[in-house]
Amino acid sequence: MSAAGGCLCGGVRFSVRGALRPVIACHCSQCRRWTGGFVMATEAASADLSFGAADTLTWYASSAGAERGFCGRCGSVLFWRRTTGVPTHISILAGALDPPTGLRLASHIFAADKSDFYDITDGLPQAAQWPER
Ligand SMILES: [Zn+2]
Ligand SMILES: [Zn+2]
Repeated sequence: MSAAGGCLCGGVRFSVRGALRPVIACHCSQCRRWTGGFVMATEAASADLSFGAADTLTWYASSAGAERGFCGRCGSVLFWRRTTGVPTHISILAGALDPPTGLRLASHIFAADKSDFYDITDGLPQAAQWPER
């Protein structure tokens, strides 16, 4: 399986070979402020990700243990990864992938932290925090 994606302006283009995790929606307060809504992300092994363009890729340390990747020119939100230890995996915002992705939304995390202007009504599993591994 392989997939490709990028930001709105084309400053960041990437491809992924290998398996992508089903999409998980995160409703935490950081994801809310970062996107204006919530994050829907897949995940890949870091070694499977390669860049065709990364001139404008910018990283923001959003907490002590994680950073978020976005395009510094067009503002597209793209990646999330841990910064503690060796980051073996990277979350990729599913909307950045070129369709068809072949992926499906599977569950919601930090559902208890969501804002009040929408409801989660798709019947998928909801977790208060991180998913079970
Ligand atoms: Zn861009
Ligand atoms: Zn989140």
